This record gives sequence, structure tokens and C-alpha cells, in this order.
Amino acid sequence: MIGDRRLPGTPDLVFPKYLAAIFVHGCFWHGHDCRQGRVPTSNVRYWVPKLAANRERDARKEQGLLDLGWRVLIVWECQLKDADHGCVIDAVDRWLRAN
Ligand SMILES: [Zn+2]
Repeated sequence: MIGDRRLPGTPDLVFPKYLAAIFVHGCFWHGHDCRQGRVPTSNVRYWVPKLAANRERDARKEQGLLDLGWRVLIVWECQLKDADHGCVIDAVDRWLRAN
């Protein structure tokens, strides 16, 4: 199922049967620890708090889902860019069926 506005953070994909929610995060905006997630070196006083606020919001959304008994998986943009998409789908499938 695509999204569900009733859930905290409106996850990108939801699997109610598994109580599983998946977010697909852009590395820059969500502050991934990868090359694309680096904070810009210019206008640091704008970007540092802006990106920190995004990460805090993400953490609150994730905790909101966990509190409701959902599991949460984050798929990062960089994992999709260079990956064999079959591997990503297999990994998500294994995650869904775990527990
Ligand atoms: Zn990344």
C-alpha cells in the first residue's frame, strides 16, 4: 500500500499485514551519513539547524510508529542509486517477513 496519512509521518509504503512501514529518504534532506548527506560548506548557519530539525522530525515520526507497534525501515536514496534493485527488493522482502 502506498502511504497512509493516518500514520505518523505518512510513510511512503505501508504493509498493514506486517505492521511495517517504509520511508524512502533523500540523503541530503534527511541527513544520511553518506557522501550525498554532507552538510554544505556554505551558508552553514542556515543548513546545520535546518537539517538537524529534519532529522529530529524523522526521529519523532519513527518513534510515533514504534509506539503504535509498527516496525520501521528506512531506505536511503543512495542505496537505490547504485544498487541492483533486485537486491534491494530482496532485502526489503526479508525484512518484512522477519519477526
Ligand atoms: Zn545516502
